[in-house]
Amino acid sequence: MASQEIETLMQALARLPGLGPRSARRAVLWLVKRRETALAGLLDALAEVRDRLVECETCGNVDTTNPCGVCADPRRDSRSLCVVEDVAELSALDGIGPEDLSIAALVSRVAAGGIEEVVLAMNATLEGQTTAHYIAEKLEKLPIRLTQLAHGVPVGGELDYLDEGTLAQALRARRPIG
Ligand SMILES: [Zn+2]
Repeated sequence: MASQEIETLMQALARLPGLGPRSARRAVLWLVKRRETALAGLLDALAEVRDRLVECETCGNVDTTNPCGVCADPRRDSRSLCVVEDVAELSALDGIGPEDLSIAALVSRVAAGGIEEVVLAMNATLEGQTTAHYIAEKLEKLPIRLTQLAHGVPVGGELDYLDEGTLAQALRARRPIG
């Protein structure tokens, strides 16, 4: 049995994505043994990020700079915009309105000009596709090319293991070779 403080830390870490109670326990025990080095370094890094996090005014991404690292990257092609679905926040089916979906911000950004293509990177689920249709309707009148990620055979996937829906989608999305 660990003390209350250490238990609290374990429980907090266990809530992180990809960690469960067992790996959280191992991480905490590892940190406790290295309190002078690893624990101090982790604390500093966490505090630094906490103090500097800002939302990017251009894309809504959270980073330590505004504009964020992606938007500020000179190698980025500013004529293309990729809309990425965040499962936790994006779902037109759950009755979440357009304001919550940040779609209004997206539409005004595209309407402001300078963007030639909008790529929708939505989940290949009913919710994801409903959201994609919703966004497509909103952007319909703007002079851009609207595309979405292809759906179909996964890399390394064998046809025998695909369900009919995926196979049908892959067939519809077929393209010329070369
Ligand atoms: Zn950004």
